[in-house]
Amino acid sequence: MSRWMPVVDALGPQVRSRWVFNCYLIPDAGEGRPLLIDVGLRSHAAAAAQWLAQHHLSRPLVAATHLHSDHVGGIPTLCNECGMTDESVLLPARAQPYLDGSETPRSPGLREVARIHPVFRSQRFSLGSLIEQARGPQIGYGLREMSAPASSPTWLHDGETMFSAGEWQVLSAPGHTDDSTAFYHEASRTLASGDAVLTANGRAWFNPEYVDAARSAETEDRFRSLRVDVLLPGHGRPLVGRDLLAQARSSKHR
Ligand SMILES: [Zn+2]
Repeated sequence: MSRWMPVVDALGPQVRSRWVFNCYLIPDAGEGRPLLIDVGLRSHAAAAAQWLAQHHLSRPLVAATHLHSDHVGGIPTLCNECGMTDESVLLPARAQPYLDGSETPRSPGLREVARIHPVFRSQRFSLGSLIEQARGPQIGYGLREMSAPASSPTWLHDGETMFSAGEWQVLSAPGHTDDSTAFYHEASRTLASGDAVLTANGRAWFNPEYVDAARSAETEDRFRSLRVDVLLPGHGRPLVGRDLLAQARSSKHR
């Protein structure tokens, strides 16, 4: 059974992984408000609601690093279970035209996805999670058509903090998809990288699975100089170590 595991300590980010589907829970992202990052599975949502109730935490926020269905599929369930309004759903502003239908999101094809096979092997396989993801509601985009996780979310822009009193900064990270975004907490040098940076074999890896080679290379250049000692990747195991992105494997190694 999968459960929440502390990445560093009990007060810091918690991770719940079912195979490569990672969901992160930050107990206090500012003002005592808990923050969920990338609630991809409905079972992540149910487990998050339970954890918050057990720890007497209320007014949660949920953020997504991009709108791939394996990162947003559990958001409606979470909102239901925790009585959250659309306003507490934080989505990258770059995805706004996807919701009103004025732009079709670009998504890596299966040949691209196959490039990250070491990542798929780095976490314990769970058939249940795969079935859940495949049969889940049509939220977000990927293999199927786009469906909105919330109708009027809060949009996140590059460089701003996630909410008024929060300390998590929004960093655009296009390449894997156009709406790819990461969240950075400078004080603890923690990066929730979404699918911009993955991990495999104990090492960070700028994702070789992308829709835009040029923008992916730009993101890699920009992120190399970011001091990251705690890495919370979209897929692969979280890493703790010194300056993890300086020594990361390049997306050109594909
Ligand atoms: Zn993705």
